[in-house]
Amino acid sequence: MKVNLFLRLAHASMPFKRLALPLPALLVLPIVILAVAVSGLVWLVLRQQQAGADLRHAREELRQSVQVARVMLQPNGLQPPHGQAAVLHASPEALQSGLQHALHLMPQVQVAVLAQERVDGAWQPSHGDAKAWTSAYEALSLTERRTLTAHRSDGAPLEFEADGWLHAALSVSAPALPGGRAVVWLRTGPAVADPGWARARWQLALVTLGGFSLAGALLWQQGARVRRGLLDLSGWTHRATQEEWPDVPIPAGPAELHHLGKMMQGLTQFRHEREKDIRQTAFRDTLTHLPNRAFFQMRLAQQITEARKAQRSGALITLDIQRFKHVNAVLGQASGDALLRKVAHRLTASLPDVHHVLGRIGGNQFACLVPRADKVSATQLAKALLRNMDTPFELDGQAIDLMAQAGVTLFPEDGRTADELLSHAEMAMNVARQKMSSVMVYSPDMDPDQAASLSLLTELKQAVNRHELKLFLQPKICLATNTVLGAEALIRWQHPEHGLITPDRFIPFAEQTGFIRVLTLWAVDQASAIWREWLQAGLDLKIAVNLSPRDLMDRELPQHLHAIVTRHHVPASAIVLEITEGATMDDPVHGQQILSRLSELGFQLSIDDFGTGYSSLAYLKTLPVQELKIDKSFVLNMQNDLNDAKIVRSVIDLAHNLGMRVVAEGLESAKSWKLLEGLHCDEAQGFFISRPMPPDAFVAWVRDWEAPSVQDEYLNTDFKNIL
Ligand code: C2E
Ligand code: CA
Ligand code: CA
Repeated sequence: MKVNLFLRLAHASMPFKRLALPLPALLVLPIVILAVAVSGLVWLVLRQQQAGADLRHAREELRQSVQVARVMLQPNGLQPPHGQAAVLHASPEALQSGLQHALHLMPQVQVAVLAQERVDGAWQPSHGDAKAWTSAYEALSLTERRTLTAHRSDGAPLEFEADGWLHAALSVSAPALPGGRAVVWLRTGPAVADPGWARARWQLALVTLGGFSLAGALLWQQGARVRRGLLDLSGWTHRATQEEWPDVPIPAGPAELHHLGKMMQGLTQFRHEREKDIRQTAFRDTLTHLPNRAFFQMRLAQQITEARKAQRSGALITLDIQRFKHVNAVLGQASGDALLRKVAHRLTASLPDVHHVLGRIGGNQFACLVPRADKVSATQLAKALLRNMDTPFELDGQAIDLMAQAGVTLFPEDGRTADELLSHAEMAMNVARQKMSSVMVYSPDMDPDQAASLSLLTELKQAVNRHELKLFLQPKICLATNTVLGAEALIRWQHPEHGLITPDRFIPFAEQTGFIRVLTLWAVDQASAIWREWLQAGLDLKIAVNLSPRDLMDRELPQHLHAIVTRHHVPASAIVLEITEGATMDDPVHGQQILSRLSELGFQLSIDDFGTGYSSLAYLKTLPVQELKIDKSFVLNMQNDLNDAKIVRSVIDLAHNLGMRVVAEGLESAKSWKLLEGLHCDEAQGFFISRPMPPDAFVAWVRDWEAPSVQDEYLNTDFKNIL
């Protein structure tokens, strides 16, 4: 782990390799201290050796001087024999000056002759410079004075050290002097004998030890600072792998480390800025400074996830400026750019909420992300944005009119991913352009390949297993007798996240993926079970189930359906299979065979949405169907639109001529009821009677149902005339 950190540090400080920490620089001060201490010690040792040599030399000189004195004290110039004192014949002054003269080659050696004033009196130097010698004499201790002047009958000279001097004393018999004796006193020095080296040695040792300690302490302290600095920097590199460019700690340690920290800080700053730059150019549109498509998609994806989590809905609005190419072509690219900037500016200014995100997602396309919105508020906002474009733009003194369209999608329901949502919004925008309308809200039927989503298929499969699918029932009424004849089963998906989903949002997908076969079998199975419940409740009704065109390509469909109803003990004749008009047209021969087979098995067949296809009368005649359902688009408005009413009348006549009964679906008003009744339509189905309801409410609904009274409905003459 630690090694790793240091590797990272090394990596982070790559450009500063040459700046490898000059730790030796830190050692200079302690090394100087050490060097001084050690050289002092060496100097001392050398000096001591030198002093020893000096001392030996001084002793030698003193001894030779004593010899000279002895020789001079004999009258014949010979040394007195051993064990015999020398004799002073001349005066002490004469001896002293003679000796001084004789010893001029040894200038270090001083000589004085001491004599007593009287017998047993004080000893006095005999010389003219007696003052210096007197104080020298007085500087000696009592014992030393005694040693100096002691009587030595054997005449042997005496050497001793005192007060930093080497002394030699020669006791001389001097019959002419008081006390009969004199002393020749020689000395050399001072400080020859004890120059104080010993004390100096200790002092120097102490200084050296102090030097060592000081150097050690300094090293330790500097080492600790370097270490702390390195740890700070390595800690930073570790953090830099987790956070985004944290602040570099500047080590307080040695200058180089400080410098390194500063440079890392500079580098960090530099990279930070550059990253910001990169991000800016990567996520901002350079022309308008709005978020670009990539950034917008990112934000959109975030918002989709959040909306799903919080179970709320938001909206995406895309805006397309029309004929912009034309603007570019006529006014030039630069003016086109300037105009786009103005558009961006105006759109931004007109956003009501700071949480709305405006982006430029294409050359002349803008998009607005509204974190919280429903269909109504999003449409309003889209319209408001477009209204903003109504005022002409001014460019180089010219007024330019721009037209724009908007597409609206809601998330999470209209798309799981940002891509999907954007493409749906753009789809709605294109539809708006085609229909020459300003704003369009996305609906799945605009999407030619919305079925492409595999995950929806997985979800749909799970929906069956998890019992999320339900059949709702919508009653069918006999217009002649005002009785309930049965119901059409309409599938619903109770989605755990999106709530109740109507079939138009997943049936087309199920058809494209082939999953519809499973759904159809499931629906017939459920319908059979419902029929059994009705039977138990004492109701004898028919239940209609929708087949998809794709089902008619399945050869095994008849036998499967037969197996299901048999299992439930339901007569096939109780089941009405509704097939859209065009269903058999893709493969008429094959489709017809299957229909015949179903009919043989006893199932009732009904042509659904009649009037929307192009089936010929001749073709219809060949089909074994019992029922024809007029498409609701004709029924919904038939009480207002005479043409619709006439179409309905023709269909009824046609069906009756072919021996089929007629069902009008999409009955929404009492007036239409009265019209249908007058046109002898057999059955009716629609919101005027009831909306589709859950099966458990149906039995009660049948019992409570009463036909409406439509006697008083007023029909104008045009309508009366077609009856
Ligand atoms: P459809 O077979 O034409 O079903 C009638 C549709 O019209 C139903 O819509 C019903 O709710 C609606 N409707 C009924 N009365 C009125 C009215 O008075 N006014 C208006 N405006 N609408 C009315 P729904 O339930 O949304 O079903 C839509 C379509 O989905 C159905 O059209 C059918 O083609 C398909 N579908 C529904 N259930 C199934 C199913 O189990 N299997 C298959 N293959 N398709 C199904
Ligand atoms: Ca139907
Ligand atoms: Ca229909």
